[in-house]
Amino acid sequence: MSKYNIRAHHGLCISFFEGKGYSEDFTANMEKMIALLEEDPNVKIIDHTDEICKACPHDCGGVCESSEKVREYDNAVMKLCCIESGAEMSWNEFRRLVYENIIAENKLADVCGDCQWYSICGRKSKLCR
Ligand code: SF4
Repeated sequence: MSKYNIRAHHGLCISFFEGKGYSEDFTANMEKMIALLEEDPNVKIIDHTDEICKACPHDCGGVCESSEKVREYDNAVMKLCCIESGAEMSWNEFRRLVYENIIAENKLADVCGDCQWYSICGRKSKLCR
């Protein structure tokens, strides 16, 4: 059984997180979630608000203020990783899919090139290929 719901594009955000975020609460929660995921729990990959959104100032009662845009990111990640919303797997398996199908294939910009954080993630993704 999955322990945490993780929206698909957060597989990318987590890969490149460097302590910056939308608020102090958001950043603290992100750090907490990354530590929990390092234990490799089972996760359910979804296309709506998740454990990370919970502490985000843009989470309006369970709906992201930018829900249309970020759902496109989620859908792009799931399509490239050949999974569907609701898929359950270990966190490390999901990370592997994201790395092999998106980061290593140089497809990050295709997924989320218009995100406000892309300058950080785009730079870091080149370093880890
Ligand atoms: S901006 Fe939206 S998708 Fe991103 S963490 Fe906040 S609520 Fe979640």
